[in-house]
Amino acid sequence: MDSLDQAVWHAENGAAVAAQWQSPAGGLSEAEVAVRLQRHGLNHLPQAPGKPAWRRLLAQFHNPLIYLLFAAALMTGLLGDISDTVIILLAALANGLVGFIQEGRAETALAAVARLLPAQAVVWREGSRQSVPFEQLVPGDRVVLEAGERVAADLRLLEASELTIDESALTGESLAVSKTTEPVAREAPLAERRSMAYSGTTVATGQGIGVVVATGIHTELGRIGALIAAVEVVPTPLMQALDRLGGRLSLLVTLVALLALPIGVLAGLPWAEAILAAVAIAVAAIPEGLPAVMSITLAVGVRRMARRRAIVRSLPAVETLGGVSVICTDKTGTLTRNEMSVVELVTADGQWSVDGVGYAPVGHLATAARGPLSDIARVAVLCNDASLAQVEGEWCVLGDPTEGALLALASRLGQEAAPLRQTQPRLAVLPFSAERQWMASWHQVGDRVLLAVKGAPERVFERCIQTATAVGVQALHTDDWIRRQQGLAQQGERVLALAMAWVDAAPSQPAMTDVKDLSLLALTGIADPLRSESIDAVARCHGAGISVKMLTGDHALTAGAIAGKLGLRGASVLTGDDIDQLDDAALAKAAQQHSVFARTTAAHKLRLIGALRGEGATVAMTGDGVNDAPALKSADIGVAMAGRGSQAAREAAQIALADDHFATIANAVEEGRLVFDNLRKALLFLLPANFAQAVVVLAALLTGSTLPITAGQVLWVNLVVAVLLGLPLAFEPAEGDLMRRPPRDRQQGLVEARLIWRTLLVSLLLTLACFAMFEWQRHAGANLATARTATVNALTFGLIGYLFGSRKLGSASWRELLGGNVWLWRGVAACALLQVLFSYLPVFHQLLGTAGISLTAWAGVLMVGILVFASVTLEKRIWPAA
Ligand code: ADP
Ligand code: MG
Repeated sequence: MDSLDQAVWHAENGAAVAAQWQSPAGGLSEAEVAVRLQRHGLNHLPQAPGKPAWRRLLAQFHNPLIYLLFAAALMTGLLGDISDTVIILLAALANGLVGFIQEGRAETALAAVARLLPAQAVVWREGSRQSVPFEQLVPGDRVVLEAGERVAADLRLLEASELTIDESALTGESLAVSKTTEPVAREAPLAERRSMAYSGTTVATGQGIGVVVATGIHTELGRIGALIAAVEVVPTPLMQALDRLGGRLSLLVTLVALLALPIGVLAGLPWAEAILAAVAIAVAAIPEGLPAVMSITLAVGVRRMARRRAIVRSLPAVETLGGVSVICTDKTGTLTRNEMSVVELVTADGQWSVDGVGYAPVGHLATAARGPLSDIARVAVLCNDASLAQVEGEWCVLGDPTEGALLALASRLGQEAAPLRQTQPRLAVLPFSAERQWMASWHQVGDRVLLAVKGAPERVFERCIQTATAVGVQALHTDDWIRRQQGLAQQGERVLALAMAWVDAAPSQPAMTDVKDLSLLALTGIADPLRSESIDAVARCHGAGISVKMLTGDHALTAGAIAGKLGLRGASVLTGDDIDQLDDAALAKAAQQHSVFARTTAAHKLRLIGALRGEGATVAMTGDGVNDAPALKSADIGVAMAGRGSQAAREAAQIALADDHFATIANAVEEGRLVFDNLRKALLFLLPANFAQAVVVLAALLTGSTLPITAGQVLWVNLVVAVLLGLPLAFEPAEGDLMRRPPRDRQQGLVEARLIWRTLLVSLLLTLACFAMFEWQRHAGANLATARTATVNALTFGLIGYLFGSRKLGSASWRELLGGNVWLWRGVAACALLQVLFSYLPVFHQLLGTAGISLTAWAGVLMVGILVFASVTLEKRIWPAA
């Protein structure tokens, strides 16, 4: 097919296009698909080349702290201190490299996560509906379109009911375009080809079927040169805050260093040495190892969440999850199993329970039921897009489980779906939508036309004029029916009404006004059992100070009954109509007080999220429909369902639940809290090292004495020692039960005053240790290199002692401080070994100016470690954390 051919599919008759592509109504055979895959290739676009590696690497050096390091290297270079220059340059280089590698790893981790959520299209193949990956589509495939799904290839539409498509990705037009099956003018521009659906666009409403006419780079999207965007790594709020801190810190450090310089000279230091000292101050105060430790801690969190079946799509989500204070969840499928069975059938003749759970065609009505049973079964089958199939011996639904339950009911009434659908084919349909809450379809029955309707009872009653019974039609008593509906809903059942009418003809463009003058047939009470973990998970959230709110499209009584079983707090149920009555201020109050919201639409959800966030809550919200996407985006954390969620919802959300369970959200929050704790621990651990070194160098400068630590040694401590010791904190287990304390306050900073005091205490101890060690060694006659090496060792072992103390934010016994994390001991062992090499290996002697130290010096070094550990433990005893 050349491109000219391709351009006119929109002007041809749909059936003719299908015939040209040899696309039978039941879809292609697998053998034919294989042949066409060979000929046309996979349906995908080439991957966008990311930024070239050298530019990404270069970007790592665009950072005020790194500039400062370069300036420092320049100074030392000019002064002829070559080894310090080399060390500082190496440090800057190492910093950039670590950032570069980390970013790459975060990118691959997120890309791997994206692969866990492959886009799937529903197609007809071998006579049945199947779900296949986008890549596997071939020309001639018949693709089923539904609200919320992305169009996977260029399609010529064969069926379209209320189909509108958001084509902004292709044309830039933000209003959804309504689609038909009629051919349009040959010369119609892309935006006006209403008989086509194009790859990369999103179905906004309705449903349809189209035959694939172009795949991969031959689609319109491919022709404009679109490429699959590379995964983007966004910095987390915490990292942004640290970046800002870094900017301010470098300014402060530069100022201090510049001020210290003349003071040092006045105090008697020669210029060259004063400049070296100023450089050392700058290098000491910058926490060079912090970014590496932070990003690895986050990455470890992402992995741990994935293991608990929560797939994080962006790094900031990990952090935000830990602070969630309200979870807004849908009911069906998340709290309940979404395994529907009709358990009760109510007609004007009476009420019957239905035996048999699940979708297998076994079970029957408890006693011989009376009523318009064959019409009930017929409407249940025809006004229905689902089908039942046996997969590995188990009966399951393809499509909406609510509809699956109605098919199972029909088979329990003795009516199989397939033969009926064949002999009474569908002529037109108004698909179910969450806004409308009902569905209607028109069918050819002999020479008559049947209108079949099902949906939320309130909506269906409005359109009925009479009631069908076993012996003929009767007047409609709406009050009686409302009582029957309430009876079922009070038991937590989902209620659907079935109705029908005989009409003259099917409308060519069905509208809501075509659905009227119906005979009401029956109410079906559908049970959807709670997931057993849900009750527990709700209780866990409550224990963690998180309020759980249920938002559903179901009836208030159904929602209330289920909320009761779940133990959701808050007295009454607020409905969508109630919400419409409230102004924003009143809604803000009501949103906090109530936990159950029924008959809500996407617009209500959006307002509720806004109201809750306005009150300072951090809100996580689940959703699965296309219309949930705005609410998912406006929540702090949008949660999508990997299994049943629509593509639109998945793309709007930051995390996806691999198993769709509510309990998984609770687990993700728990992991988020752990990550946040560990980030704080790492930060608190790293800061005192910088503080102590900066003070030691500053003090030496101000008093005009020799530096106890050189700039190169400072970098060794910041980059090697601190990172090696800080990393194991990423693997710290939870401190107590994380789900037994209130959520973090958004206003509150990263670390509370209490912890800052501890940090200051340790900083002071380390500063003293450095001075003491240096002075002691000098007085004992050690040369400068030896005294400095001993000082660095003292600082390192002091940090090891503090490392154990910084494992717990709260109070802890020394036993708890020492056990429970093997990584910690590995880090400590590696660090101790490195310090020995640092002291004795000739290459370090040359590069960092170190020298072997005496055994008594080592004893002193060990003493420092033990002393710091003891004081931190003691401090925890004296001021136990709240
Ligand atoms: P939720 O997803 O919160 O359970 P829905 O929006 O799916 O709520 O359903 C709202 C109401 O719409 C249900 O109570 C039911 O009466 C009706 N309904 C649900 N699914 C269908 C369907 N496939 N066809 C017709 N009506 C439906
Ligand atoms: Mg639903």
